[in-house]
Amino acid sequence: MSAPEISVVLPCFNEVENIPELRRRLVAVLEAAGRSFEVVFVDDGSRDGSWEAMAAQAAEDPRLRAIRLSRNFGHQMALTAGVDGARGRLVAVMDADLQDPPELLAEMLSKADEGYEVVYAQRSAREGESAFKLATAHLFYRLMRRWTNVDIPVDTGDFRLMGPKAVAAFRSLRERHRFIRGMTAWVGFRQVAVSYVRPPRLHGETKFPLRRMVRFALDALTSFSHVPLQLGTWLGFGVSLFAFLYILVVLVLKVLGINERGWTTLMGWMLLLGGVQLMLIGVLGEYLGRIYDEVKRRPLYLVSEEAGGPERDTAPEADPAR
Ligand code: UDP
Ligand code: MG
Repeated sequence: MSAPEISVVLPCFNEVENIPELRRRLVAVLEAAGRSFEVVFVDDGSRDGSWEAMAAQAAEDPRLRAIRLSRNFGHQMALTAGVDGARGRLVAVMDADLQDPPELLAEMLSKADEGYEVVYAQRSAREGESAFKLATAHLFYRLMRRWTNVDIPVDTGDFRLMGPKAVAAFRSLRERHRFIRGMTAWVGFRQVAVSYVRPPRLHGETKFPLRRMVRFALDALTSFSHVPLQLGTWLGFGVSLFAFLYILVVLVLKVLGINERGWTTLMGWMLLLGGVQLMLIGVLGEYLGRIYDEVKRRPLYLVSEEAGGPERDTAPEADPAR
């Protein structure tokens, strides 16, 4: 069995209602494109029967496969597991809730044929998201652009098609705190955007509550920027300069013998500096914690079982410690 031309990787966390429709639309698009393909569902520790659903689909059609992680590892890890396990020359990654329309793959494939290694889908509009999510996402992408030295495209999710060089490069990046849209930009090569309108979720609800979004944003920032660490240096310089001037003022006042006032100023500065110092220790902690996670060198995810696919005689053994 030769490798398929394209693999489509779909991380799923409690997406049981979306799986049949997803499969139907994907298979239709890929068949119409006339390419050999495999669809790789990754079950990221679902508790709603998603695994059973995807394993059943895989049993019906050898072009469908399912990989089950041993627990919920989070979207970015599930996606990594899928890309690691994909056998196609080109690898597409997309969400399983049909917010990334499979129909866009046709256009993305034609870009890949033109020689682009990374084709990313860029949202020209987003439907069915809260005003808060839209505003924070807008701010986040612009901030990342300013504060990082990688050219991370604005308003893109993880919906991407990668060519063989980009896939190999991506697989070589084994960091734990992953911001995949940044990592696929970091690899370089020829990149291009195709734009689309992001529809609302078909079924179910978002798996990214505010707390997870904040974690994700911090991972993104710390993996691609040292600006927060350097904040201390700049604040330190600024405050020291001010302190130096202020000491001169205090000395002059002392010489003139008018030095009783100042309780308010003293308290104000003490509290302010205390706050700034604690905040910067916190920034150090964010980086330190991530360094600790990296040096432990744990595997990024663990696979508990796999289902489907063609006969596995020539397939390489899955390496759970990747
Ligand atoms: N997902 C996952 N593991 C998680 C959370 C989410 O694999 O821990 C999957 C989810 O099933 C979906 C994709 O990641 O296919 C994007 O999640 P979601 O649609 O909830 O994010 P949103 O579109 O709201 O940002
Ligand atoms: Mg979604």
